[in-house]
This record gives sequence, structure tokens and C-alpha cells, in this order.
Amino acid sequence: MIALLELRKVGVEYAARTGFRNQRLRVVDDVDLAIGRGEIVGLVGESGCGKSTLARTMVGLVRPATGQVLLDGEPLPDKRPAATRRRIQMVFQDPGSSLDPRHTVERILRVPLRLHHLADRGREAARILELLDLVGLPKRVLSSRSGALSGGQRQRVAIARAVATAPDLIVADEAVAALDASVTGAVLNVLADLRKELGLTVVFISHDLSVVRGLCDRVAVMYLGKVVEEASAESLFTAPAHPYTRALLNAVPRVDVPLAAPALLGDEPPSLLAPPSGCRFHPRCPAAYAPCSTTSPPIERQGGRSVQCHLGFDFGSVMQPDGVAGT
Ligand code: SF4
Ligand code: MG
Repeated sequence: MIALLELRKVGVEYAARTGFRNQRLRVVDDVDLAIGRGEIVGLVGESGCGKSTLARTMVGLVRPATGQVLLDGEPLPDKRPAATRRRIQMVFQDPGSSLDPRHTVERILRVPLRLHHLADRGREAARILELLDLVGLPKRVLSSRSGALSGGQRQRVAIARAVATAPDLIVADEAVAALDASVTGAVLNVLADLRKELGLTVVFISHDLSVVRGLCDRVAVMYLGKVVEEASAESLFTAPAHPYTRALLNAVPRVDVPLAAPALLGDEPPSLLAPPSGCRFHPRCPAAYAPCSTTSPPIERQGGRSVQCHLGFDFGSVMQPDGVAGT
């Protein structure tokens, strides 16, 4: 089956100036990822790991330096034509800056309908109400300026605007990061409902593993520009294979463990200006051994999972869930 969106060996580079030197910064490095129709795929990792750049590459806002992005098996066109923009929409972290605070909700939702000729004038009002209903907003917000709404309501408007073009894929970049915990769950439910009702496909990007757990079918973990592990949410959370994934999980407070197991992450991730040799995680990895600092680990695949580590799937099987080596 052809994936809705497929990344093949995608690399993204930026120009950077350090002192007197011009340098190419490889912020995304050889990423393979396939997103199936109707899936919700999480992309997690610390800030600066390349998640947002990868998100922008998926929607065609950033061109990869190497590799390919395919939509329904066809390479994404160079200049984002209206047809592609309609099919892949993005929702950003801060709806306060992505929505004009002076515009009414009605006006915000009308723009994409007109831009993409999606509803004739007679149907427009009905379609706008339908969109509000899909994201659980009452009709009375239509005349409100977006600046007068709460953060959670604004994010619902941003999602409704994305859904207005009847897209195949929504890429949500830290879409709940700015919201209170109490509102986060409701916005996550909106995304889950949209998938159920419209068959929408979602790439959900977050630095916070705990929000990904309930929403996503599959999760890809990024570290310094690379996808180091990919698995179903179920297996990733119950049996993480990569030492970095385990470290991220240990950093999430768990209600079932009174004292969280010690986190493996002591330091800030190294700079992309000078990525570590071999496995990029080796300076922070508790399981690092001789080849890790010199040789980049291959990707190992097993039953729909993948891990990029010299230990393959062995690290996960020798570690108990509390992070203590098993006997
Ligand atoms: Fe740790 Fe080595 Fe695996 Fe990298 S390759 S994650 S350093 S064990
Ligand atoms: Mg980001």
C-alpha cells in the first residue's frame, strides 16, 4: 500500500556562520518515515532536534537538500501549488500569532473556503458552522475577534481553519505546548475525533511524551536530526528499544511509580554545529561502548519497528521497565 506521505532519506541543511566560517548545518539527517492514511503519528524529541524543520519539510515549506518527500507516491512539487497547500495543512504552537487577533472567527474560517473555491456563497455560512461544530465551538463565537478568545478556543479555530480545506494531512507542531493541562486534553480529543469522523491523517509533534501517548498510533523519536526509534505507541511506551527513548520515558513523571527512576539525560544535547562522531547520542548514553563513538549505528528493523543503535533491540530486552539492568 502506498503511504499518504513518505520521507525517503530526507536531509535538510541550513547555512550557518560561526566566527569567520560559513558552515552547512545538517538539521535533519537521512530520515525515513512513512505516514499511512488515517494514522496519527507522533514525532517527539527535545527542542532543537529537528522536529519543526522536519514538519516544515513534510508540508513543503522547506526543501530537502537530499532525499525525497512523496505525497501519494508522487514527489512534492517544488513550489507549493494551491492543490498541495489544500491537501497538507499545518497547525502551529501559538494560535495567537498564526491567527490575526483583529479578525472575527467567521472571517478566519471564510478565507480558506474562498481561497480554494471550496464552497459556493450560498453554502459558505453552513460550512463555517459545520467547521465550528467539528472542533466543538459554539455558534456564538463566530462574531468574536480571535484575540478575545481563550488559548484553547483559539487553537480550536486554528484547527477548524486547517480542516476547512478538507486536507488529507494535518501537521500539528507543538499544537498544545502553549495550553494549560486542563485544555490540552480537550484539544487532543478534537484531533482524535477528526480522525474518526473525517479519516484525517495527523502528524503530531511534541517535546512531551505524555501527551503523545493517548493520541498517537505510532511514534517516531528524533535525536539531533535523526529518527532513532520508530514503533507503535503501545510498544514504544511499554518496551522502548533505544536508550534515548528510555531516557525520555524516565523523564516523564509516572503516577504508578512513587519516585521516578533516575533520568539518563544529564546535559543539554550537543550542538548541531559539531554533532558527535559515531552515534550522535554516545556522549549521553549510559549503554555506550567501544564502537559507539566511532561508527554510526545502522537502522535495525523488526516487525514494524525500527531502532538506530548498535545494540539493536537488545538494549530494551536487558533493561527492566524501572531502568535497572535485569538479571
Ligand atoms: Fe548508546 Fe551506542 Fe546505542 Fe548510540 S549506538 S544509543 S551510544 S548504545
Ligand atoms: Mg519546534
